[in-house]
Amino acid sequence: MRKLFLDHALLRTGWARDVAIDVEGGTIRAIRMQALPEGRERLAGITLPGLPNLHSHTFQRGMAGLAETRGPQGDSFWTWRQVMYRFLGQLTPDDVEAIAAFATMEMLEGGFTALAEFHYLHHDRDGRPFADVAELSGRIAAAADETGIGLTLLPVLYTQGGFGGVAPNEGQRRFINDIEGYFRLVEGARKAAGFLDDAVVGIAPHSLRAVTPDALERALAAASEGPIHLHIAEQVKEVEDCIAWSGQRPVAWLLDHAPVDKRWCLVHATHLDSAEMHGLAAADAVAGLCPITEANLGDGIFEGVEFLAAGGRFGVGSDSNIEISAAGELKQFEYSQRLKRRARNVLAQRDGESTGRALYTGALAGGAQALGRHVGALEVGYRADMVVLDAAHPALAALSGDRWLDAYIFVAGKAAIDQVIVAGQTVVTEGRHHKRDAITARYAGTMAHILA
Ligand code: ZN
Repeated sequence: MRKLFLDHALLRTGWARDVAIDVEGGTIRAIRMQALPEGRERLAGITLPGLPNLHSHTFQRGMAGLAETRGPQGDSFWTWRQVMYRFLGQLTPDDVEAIAAFATMEMLEGGFTALAEFHYLHHDRDGRPFADVAELSGRIAAAADETGIGLTLLPVLYTQGGFGGVAPNEGQRRFINDIEGYFRLVEGARKAAGFLDDAVVGIAPHSLRAVTPDALERALAAASEGPIHLHIAEQVKEVEDCIAWSGQRPVAWLLDHAPVDKRWCLVHATHLDSAEMHGLAAADAVAGLCPITEANLGDGIFEGVEFLAAGGRFGVGSDSNIEISAAGELKQFEYSQRLKRRARNVLAQRDGESTGRALYTGALAGGAQALGRHVGALEVGYRADMVVLDAAHPALAALSGDRWLDAYIFVAGKAAIDQVIVAGQTVVTEGRHHKRDAITARYAGTMAHILA
């Protein structure tokens, strides 16, 4: 049992001070307000529920910065993808684990306490399955265990190179499974992640372009519970290709052909018409926004204002991990809307509401739903996942209440993070992960040999 005393905390009911929290087995067992500090470990500062990161490919952290040089033919998502395929073609299981440990460490230092890893790198460098088909799922789980981040593991189904049964290219050979192979992989991933006491395993059809309708149907039929994630409508070309293949836009096709509901997270969903947007909101699925990556890749701008007005649910993910920051993702989401609309404070839902508060609480709820975890609130029965901001940080020191969130998201960012606690265990102190030195040294060695 860990007995904590929080100076200030964001509860579901609002801001509270002098909060006593008892944690046992990783879960919050009791909460009391206006408590006394005696006999308790004090968390000085401003304690927030930790934010879930609903979408990542951890290995891509290793190629961050390697695709920022102008090429000969105009750069796009598709030229970036070529760089990504070349990079991942070299990775050994040890490399995958070292990069995942570094990325998840940075997630914790950046204010994320749980992760949905959309894991599509399955096979060896020559495209052949490892002796254990879930070898690389096991490496992701080992990295999560090392850093302490909560893990929702999403083994990815990838059956084709493009819409209409296009054969996979060489760069995709490490991803490909037929549906029977995929069932073995999911089973293997469950075993590989089983040693983590709170791991969740879901499924992830990669995208409508990468799975056949038949494989999608069979994967869904076999998944009676747990999260379902897929990439969708990230790129205009993907929308056009989907229309050419089916006569429908991607989200319209999905809503017509799959039982989309609360278990689903539609990652990106950047290019929606109004009917798709309202359909997605009405399905209670989560829009998995990755604003920093979407900006980096030039994907386009999600129509956040209309979606939130329709009651849509959202969360944020670090996706390519080009920059890892929970506050940064929320800031970029709001800023993209401001630039598009030439207006300010557009994602707050009512007059007088703090934009930071609206963004943070929205992403907590949507993120927790997408990860299928009891996280996202400081409440009895929830995992004790907390981010403690430094109340003495110059950007926060003179403030209180929702202004702390505004200053965290729009001013200080992750520099304001003092401690991070996952399942009741402190993993970050004074902004640094406890294993930072060892994980960073291993990562540096890994990158040196990959880029040699
Ligand atoms: Zn992605």
